[in-house]
Amino acid sequence: MSNIKTDILIVGGGIAGCIAAISLIDTHTVTLIDKLAVPKERIGESLAPAAQRILKELQLLESLHAHQEQLYIQNLGMQSYWGSEQVHIIDHLRNPDGLSKSLDRKAFEIFLRKSAVERGVQDIWPAKLQSSSLENNMWNIVTSSETLEEHHIQAKFVIDATGRQSHFARSQGIKRIPIDKLIACWVTLPNTEENKMSTITATKNGWWYSAVIPNNKRVIAFQTDSDLIDRSTFKDLNSFLELSRSNRQIAAILEKNKAEITFHGVVAANSTQLEKVTGLQWAAIGDAAISFDPLSSQGMFNAMASAMQLKELLVMSNIANHPDSIIETQFQKMYTQQIEAIWEQYVYHKNIFYKAEMRWSDHPFWKRRHLSL
Ligand SMILES: Cc1cc2nc3c(=O)[nH]c(=O)nc-3n(C[C@H](O)[C@H](O)[C@H](O)COP(=O)(O)OP(=O)(O)OC[C@H]3O[C@@H](n4cnc5c(N)ncnc54)[C@H](O)[C@@H]3O)c2cc1C
Repeated sequence: MSNIKTDILIVGGGIAGCIAAISLIDTHTVTLIDKLAVPKERIGESLAPAAQRILKELQLLESLHAHQEQLYIQNLGMQSYWGSEQVHIIDHLRNPDGLSKSLDRKAFEIFLRKSAVERGVQDIWPAKLQSSSLENNMWNIVTSSETLEEHHIQAKFVIDATGRQSHFARSQGIKRIPIDKLIACWVTLPNTEENKMSTITATKNGWWYSAVIPNNKRVIAFQTDSDLIDRSTFKDLNSFLELSRSNRQIAAILEKNKAEITFHGVVAANSTQLEKVTGLQWAAIGDAAISFDPLSSQGMFNAMASAMQLKELLVMSNIANHPDSIIETQFQKMYTQQIEAIWEQYVYHKNIFYKAEMRWSDHPFWKRRHLSL
C-alpha cells in the first residue's frame, strides 16, 4: 500500500487524461491513474486537423512527427456514399490546420502516457478507482488492481477522464443521459487496397466505415442501433461477413483478406451527456463529460479541447490550491456553460449530417434521426 498527496488526481490515462496532465504539470502536482497497465487496441483513429494546435501548444507535435512511422499516417481525404450512390470526396489539402491523421491508437496513447511521465506527472497503472470521499476540502481516494496493490491518494481536485463509463462522476450519483442507441461492431485486417482514403457508406439500417491505419492495417466497422439488430448478428466474424453482403465494396475487401481478419466485437458509439459535468472540487472531461457519434470524428479532439478548457479555468481560478466557495461556484458555472456550448454545436451538426441521407427515411434507424430536433 502507498500513500500519495497530490494537487490534482486524474482518473483515466486516455487522451483526455494525458492532455490534462501534461497541461497542468507546470502549475500543479499531478497524479494520473489508469486501470490498464498498457493501453489496449481500440477503434477511433481519425484525428481532426485542429487537434494539432493543441499538440503544438503542449510541445508534443515535433516529437509526434519524429515518431511518425509508429504513430500515424497522413490522411489526404475522405470519401462518402451518403445521400446517393454518387461518391463525394472531402479533401483535407486546403485545411489550414493540415491533413487529418490516422493514428495507431494504442501507440498514440502510449506516446501520450510516456510524455506525461517525462514531464513529471506521477503515474500509477494499473490502478482502478475503488472509493472516494471528500473531507475538509480534500478527496480521499482508494484504488485497487488485479495485482492487489492498493493506493491511498489525497487530492485537492479530481478530474474524471474515465471515458464513457464516467466512473468517478457516477460514483457521486450522477447519471448519464443517452440520446440514441448507436453501437459499432469492428474488425481489423491487412490493407491490400491502393485507395487509402477513409470511406463512409450509408445503408438501410446504419452505416459502414473503413480506414487505413499504420502498419498497413485497415479497420472496418458497422454502426447501427442496438435495438434494431439481432444480437447474434454481431456474435462472430461469420455473422459480420454475412452482414457485409449488403455492401459490395466492403464485402469484397473482407472476402479478399478473410483468413487474416481479427474480429473485435461490439462497442458503444452513442451520443451521451453527463447530467452534471462538474461539482465540488471535481470535473469531467472528454468522453466522461460528453461522448460523440463516430460520424463526427471529433471525439479525440473534444477529449483534448475539454482538457485544455478545464486547465485554463483551473489555472485562472486557482481553486485546486485555494478552495473558495464563491470562486468555486463561478468555476462550475463557466465550465458547465463551455461544455453545454460544445454539446449544442455537436448535436446541431450531427442532425444536419443524418438529414443529408434520406434514401431510407422510413427505416427506424434513419427515421428517428430525422425526427430529432
Ligand atoms: C466506433 C468508434 C469510432 C470512433 N472513431 C473516432 C475517430 O475516428 N476520431 C475521433 O476523434 N474519435 C473517434 N471515436 C471517439 C474516441 O475514441 C473517443 O472520443 C476518445 O477515446 C475519448 O477519449 P477519453 O480519453 O475521453 O476516453 P477514453 O479513451 O475512453 O479513455 C478513458 C481511460 O480511462 C481508463 N479508465 C476507465 N475506467 C477507469 C477506472 N475506473 N479507473 C481508472 N481508469 C479507468 C481507461 O482504461 C482509459 O484509458 C470513436 C469512437 C467509437 C466508439
